[in-house]
Amino acid sequence: MLKIDEEPLARMRAYKQDSKEKLEAGGVLLGRFIISSKNLVVDKVTVPMIGDKRERYSFIREEKMHQRLITKNWEASNGTCNYLGEWHTHPESYPRPSEQDRKNWLEIMKTRTFSSLYLYFVIVGIKEVRVWEGNRKTGKIKRIY
Ligand SMILES: [Zn+2]
Repeated sequence: MLKIDEEPLARMRAYKQDSKEKLEAGGVLLGRFIISSKNLVVDKVTVPMIGDKRERYSFIREEKMHQRLITKNWEASNGTCNYLGEWHTHPESYPRPSEQDRKNWLEIMKTRTFSSLYLYFVIVGIKEVRVWEGNRKTGKIKRIY
């Protein structure tokens, strides 16, 4: 099970596209595996940075700056704070992944060299925050929240 702490949840929600001029936003999910359980906790998220391409209906994350924060957090936590997935916003109440989103997610599942079987993808809609789980072995993506 994936749990998202209050703070990262509030940080993501702060970017929800609840007015016409707000652009898509996004970043990566960082967190921990809880030993001796199947639980993961998202402790932190990165937020839009210089280099990200933000539009009303698209968000493209620039890898270098976010990766720098992933590495920094990983080192500072002695390897316990890991990359768990991605988040971005949608200008719709109940968000659903676009075809492009699914393509990106599959690409990330294939290319991220990473020990976890599952990766997580959050879309922050105007009314709901929804979460999908990607199984790297089967390539299946299913909504969990
Ligand atoms: Zn999207």
